[in-house]
Formats: sequence, structure tokens, C-alpha cells
Amino acid sequence: MILMKDIVREGHPSLKNASAEVSLPISEEEKRLLEDMLEFLKNSQDDETAAKYDLRAGVGLAAPQLGIEKRLIAIHFEDFNGKLYSYGLVNPKIISHSVEKSYLTSGEGCLSVDRPVEGYVPRHARITIKATDIEGNPVKLRLKGYPSIVFQHEIDHLNGIMFYDHINKDNPFAVPDNSTPIE
Ligand code: ZN
Repeated sequence: MILMKDIVREGHPSLKNASAEVSLPISEEEKRLLEDMLEFLKNSQDDETAAKYDLRAGVGLAAPQLGIEKRLIAIHFEDFNGKLYSYGLVNPKIISHSVEKSYLTSGEGCLSVDRPVEGYVPRHARITIKATDIEGNPVKLRLKGYPSIVFQHEIDHLNGIMFYDHINKDNPFAVPDNSTPIE
């Protein structure tokens, strides 16, 4: 199982590099990796398991955060309405996005960042993603609100971008133009 020691932290080159496209169909090893990444997220959200293995709760994980520079992400969370988003995705790509932005008023965090970084992270308010799932099926998702932000955070990791790269350096709490806050 994936543990915190397996997650690379700031300073590791995999967090700065663009990751490689994965050829389809994915290998058994890549399939197992995605399943392990999803299991980690579920474990990290289970109080008992998280306490036992000292896991920090996370809603998304990208392969480069394990030092594996492949375009694979796992997402697992329930939105504010209780709708479950649970995906292991191969080569996720944002194919369109709104001009309007949004940002989390509480800012963002990352399993690869062991310090609080304050500030608003401007994101596209709405995105459409295309990807392939673990079973090889095509996936198309239209996302807004919190889910849209989670997917953008993880896809950024595939391009070597950290959440704080988006924060206004002069004024971290500058409200992004044309944006809606998400509480
Ligand atoms: Zn992250």
C-alpha cells in the first residue's frame, strides 16, 4: 500500500517535470498503480486507517507525486451535495474551459507540500475533461465548483505545476478577475 513516505515532496524533480503520455491499453502495472493510488485516497479519508498509518487526508493524487512521471491521476471525494467522484484516469486532458474563474476561499493544499501556503489559487470555473478510465473506457466529464478545482490541481501535477505557482506573488489574497469564490 502507498504510505506518506512514498509521496515525494517539494524539491523533487518529478514535481517540476512534464509527465509522459501513457500508451493504451495501459499495462497491468499501471492499472495496479492507479488502483493503489485510489486505495491510498480512500485510506487517507478513513479516520481509523489514516491514524494507524499516519496518512494525511487527500482527495487527489497524481503519479508524479510518487516520482512516476506518467499522466495518471486518482481522484476520490464526495462533493458538498454528497455526490461521489471516484476516478483513476489515464492521460486526462482539459479540452475546454470557461473564461470565468473560481477559487477556494480556504486556499489549496497538497500532499507534496508540508507547509501551509496561503492565498487564492485562480482556477477555471468550469472545465470539460477527456480521459481514459482504468478499464480502458473513454471518459468525458463536465465539472464546475469544487470538483473542477480538484481535477485542475491534479492535472497541473502532470505539467510540473504546483498550486502555489498560480498565487499572486504581490498580493496572495488578490481576488482574481471575473471569479466566483467557493467556500
Ligand atoms: Zn498536489
